[in-house]
Amino acid sequence: MTRKRATCLLMILFVVAFTLTTAGVAMAAKQWSCWHWDHNNIGLSNAAGGYWGTINGSEANDWEAATCISFGGGNEITVDAGFYGATGWLGIARLLEVGGGCTIVRAEALMNQSYLDGGGYGETADRHVSCQEIGHVLGLDHARGRSQTCMNDRYLSFPYFAQDEADLIDAITGGCDGGGDPTCGERGDPCSTNADCCSDRCKNNGTCR
Ligand SMILES: [Zn+2]
Repeated sequence: MTRKRATCLLMILFVVAFTLTTAGVAMAAKQWSCWHWDHNNIGLSNAAGGYWGTINGSEANDWEAATCISFGGGNEITVDAGFYGATGWLGIARLLEVGGGCTIVRAEALMNQSYLDGGGYGETADRHVSCQEIGHVLGLDHARGRSQTCMNDRYLSFPYFAQDEADLIDAITGGCDGGGDPTCGERGDPCSTNADCCSDRCKNNGTCR
């Protein structure tokens, strides 16, 4: 019984919910506790189909384009949507498995259609929630003091993140700037093949992604 409760408490601690009622606290780009990935090639499963598959895929692409993160096949991160009921959250990010040194091993980002598919929430709000939950599973906390970012959990009108939030992900992800191959190129460095870049992505213009 004690063990069961501990597991349950652990789940709660690892959850950042997009709640319906929040208090305002000013803050800049902020890491979600100490959580981070230790590699930048992350397997992502876009589990929802139809409209939500498009929304979630688009938001994941935005994060990928602005950071050193590269999403490939796999299920280290599962992004999904469903009718989860009157949970009190529009979206939620959960760390399902974590490793030593605060590393994220497996996580999920869920959008609650029980609220979001109803009246009052349009595509902009849907994208804002999706953008935020994916930001959480990449290691970001809320940014309630700023209006120009989806990491604000008091507004639903800005479905994009701030540049310093993308930069923070790069800074905390081992394999982006830290912990990776010291001879590989960082974003913007010149390259001729994918192998020249830490991200394994050499863009057509000859610079690393
Ligand atoms: Zn949130």
